[in-house]
Amino acid sequence: MSRHLVVGAGFSGAVVARCLAEAGHNCLVVDERPHVAGNCHTDEDEETGILVHRYGPHIFHTDDDAVLRFVQRFGQWVPYRHAVFAQTRGKVFSLPVNLLTINQFFGTAMDPAQARTFLEARTLSISKPASFREQALASVGEELYEAFFRHYTVKQWGIEPDMLPASVLKRLPVRFSYDNSYFHHQTQAMPQDGYTDIVRAMLDHDGIEIRLGLQAEALTEDFAHTFYTGGLDRYFGYRLGRLAYRTLRFEELRLSGNALGCPVMNFPDRDVPWTRMTEHRHLSPWRRPKTGTTIVWREYSEPAGPGSTPFYPLRLAGDEQLLEAYCNLARNTSGVTFLGRLGSYAYIDMDVAIRRALDTASAALRAFRTGIAPPTFVYDPLQKA
Ligand SMILES: Cc1cc2nc3c(=O)[nH]c(=O)nc-3n(C[C@H](O)[C@H](O)[C@H](O)COP(=O)(O)OP(=O)(O)OC[C@H]3O[C@@H](n4cnc5c(N)ncnc54)[C@H](O)[C@@H]3O)c2cc1C
Repeated sequence: MSRHLVVGAGFSGAVVARCLAEAGHNCLVVDERPHVAGNCHTDEDEETGILVHRYGPHIFHTDDDAVLRFVQRFGQWVPYRHAVFAQTRGKVFSLPVNLLTINQFFGTAMDPAQARTFLEARTLSISKPASFREQALASVGEELYEAFFRHYTVKQWGIEPDMLPASVLKRLPVRFSYDNSYFHHQTQAMPQDGYTDIVRAMLDHDGIEIRLGLQAEALTEDFAHTFYTGGLDRYFGYRLGRLAYRTLRFEELRLSGNALGCPVMNFPDRDVPWTRMTEHRHLSPWRRPKTGTTIVWREYSEPAGPGSTPFYPLRLAGDEQLLEAYCNLARNTSGVTFLGRLGSYAYIDMDVAIRRALDTASAALRAFRTGIAPPTFVYDPLQKA
């Protein structure tokens, strides 16, 4: 049976490789990083034993049973409930905006119905919000927008909220209850030994060879088909230009004991340069740190230049045009299927990346069986997630 190339050992690449291997195909998986699991990579800090999320905090959450069943095959998962707070104007508030946030912020003791009426009187009635700002004003009103969203958005995206499309946040969730669960999906879980162990187990198959620390561009071998989870613009040598991304910079603090008291604290104020802080030990509450030291990261969002790690696709109007041009180029190129967050230039959560990789592998296997070429995209990048 012929051999395929899978570029990228994140969830997208690992799922495709596993499905192909289980169907009897051989794959070479390459990743330029020295580890598998892509941006979900976790490893244990030597001094403290704390499991560190090396590219920022990752919480698995899903309503997709097939995705859940698939990942459960490769290791133990522990139920986990994510909690995020916000520190603004010298006070700490509950997030996402819920009844407690509203009562804390306005110094009230309203019940759900009173809070709804109260907030409705403060929101603008905009039927089709044209920007993130309009979206926010229609959902939460001026005061909460200024305190929790405006400057956080500027720090995160580098532009004023009225320049950002409303689609960046389709809907600002406001809960008229004391439910502060960060995600609404039925399943929220963490892999007991970290994501990297799960992905390593996924790639552990006789049909899969892994080469790490290797750029796909350096390969000279021929392959039957390539599954590319790297950047669409990178595949074509950036010949039409670069798709814009934000990158993240992390500053590590080693503090004593329990520094934040929660996994993630957002900092929406303009004069605090970081967007949020993560205390990694709270992302694995079932593990006992080996020492009294805790690891806290400050997270800074910056424009991604050549050489920096692309994290969040910006997808402003100019990027959409460039994306369309790259998609046309891709459709006229044979032998390659693009997928994953970079291959489709989209922010996608892990469960979505896994679902799309499962579907991409199924489509490719169907094509191989009937002797036709697999599609360039199973999920069209021009259709927003
Ligand atoms: C800060 C942050 C927090 C997040 N938090 C969550 C969360 O809480 N929950 C959630 O569900 N999702 C979260 N996500 C999304 C999650 O990271 C993605 O869903 C997931 O990483 C997608 O996997 P992937 O395989 O498509 O991409 P990646 O993980 O980026 O893997 C792609 C891999 O390809 C490699 N590669 C690229 N080009 C080449 C090349 N030419 N040669 C060799 N190797 C190459 C890269 O090194 C990389 O390892 C978060 C994302 C970010 C940015």
